[in-house]
Amino acid sequence: MNDLVIIGAGPVGLACGIQAGEHNLSSMIIDKGTLVNSLVGYPTHMEFFSTAELLEIGGHPFPTLSTKPTRPEALKYYRRVADVESLDLRLYEQVQRVDGTDNNFSVVTTKGTYPCRKVIVVTGFFDVPNLLNVPGEELSKVTHYYREPYAYAGQQVAVIGAKNSAAKAALECYHYGAEVTLIHRGDALSEKIKYWIKPDIENRIREGSIAAHFGTRVTAIESEQLKLHGPGGAFSLSNDFVIAMTGYRPDYSFLEALNITIQKDRFQTPFHHSETFETNRPGLYIAGTVCGGLRTSRWFIENGRFHAAQIMRHITTGTVEPLKLGQRYWKTAE
Ligand SMILES: Cc1cc2nc3c(=O)[nH]c(=O)nc-3n(C[C@H](O)[C@H](O)[C@H](O)COP(=O)(O)OP(=O)(O)OC[C@H]3O[C@@H](n4cnc5c(N)ncnc54)[C@H](O)[C@@H]3O)c2cc1C
Repeated sequence: MNDLVIIGAGPVGLACGIQAGEHNLSSMIIDKGTLVNSLVGYPTHMEFFSTAELLEIGGHPFPTLSTKPTRPEALKYYRRVADVESLDLRLYEQVQRVDGTDNNFSVVTTKGTYPCRKVIVVTGFFDVPNLLNVPGEELSKVTHYYREPYAYAGQQVAVIGAKNSAAKAALECYHYGAEVTLIHRGDALSEKIKYWIKPDIENRIREGSIAAHFGTRVTAIESEQLKLHGPGGAFSLSNDFVIAMTGYRPDYSFLEALNITIQKDRFQTPFHHSETFETNRPGLYIAGTVCGGLRTSRWFIENGRFHAAQIMRHITTGTVEPLKLGQRYWKTAE
């Protein structure tokens, strides 16, 4: 029996596997997709916002050409680290449920059942997009996962959203010859757009190269047009493609199937101890981005990678008492 089964082979899941080894705990990492599956699905030409050393795990140096790593560099880095650390990876194997209790769990996947003492759930948020919930969202011209601009040259493209991902997608598509319209239900671009992206998108909107409709909601998507409602009332736009950059959320149905309590705060935070990351189900921990619930910007690779050491400390020393339901779930925040 393994000491640990780690669900999710993202950067934080890998960090958990490395830390387990450093604490002489045996572990297996199971992912429903490939290694660092979320990063594989990120925009092809993306550059991380973080500098390379802030994305490092297990103390392995991450050399990059420029200060901020590109997606291919990160993919190569995490694969190489997993290799060097000889992590026991089970890929393309979806975890369906976890039976049993502390020190005697059974992790049930699409391919088998694995007994273990403890479980760490590191499933991120990238698999479930926030839907617009409008008619036509299911059309093949709509995507919630922007990859690259090449399919959109000469096309009328609506980008929905006003944060970094929307701004980057709008700019890339515009520079590749698409006719881009940015649509956002709020009054302005997000203040959180990175300082090196913001002037570019603001200037393109100001000069009219990218059209923008703020205070505007999509009410329906049709094969050749979009139905919208803005400050002046209902209107429609001729449209070929929709790139909906409306964010993502943890897979709550999976968390609930694991009997993790979802708190009733506005971020629907999965219940966990702020120091140990143990959930309401003893012996079952969460780590990484999933810990923030709907607040998906709370934990990322930079800070989420440190969850691994905190969890291993608790598993090996058991020194911190779990919080009771209703108590604060993070006290180290901000
Ligand atoms: C465009 C973009 C840019 C970003 N830039 C940065 C940055 O510069 N710096 C930074 O620190 N962070 C950045 N982030 C955030 C960062 O990528 C995530 O916070 C990080 O991937 C979280 O790691 P994780 O291991 O918690 O989750 P993920 O990397 O999302 O890994 C979760 C894994 O769990 C697997 N999984 C899910 N459900 C199951 C299941 N039932 N069974 C088995 N496996 C399952 C998934 O396939 C996935 O591989 C960025 C995110 C985006 C979208």
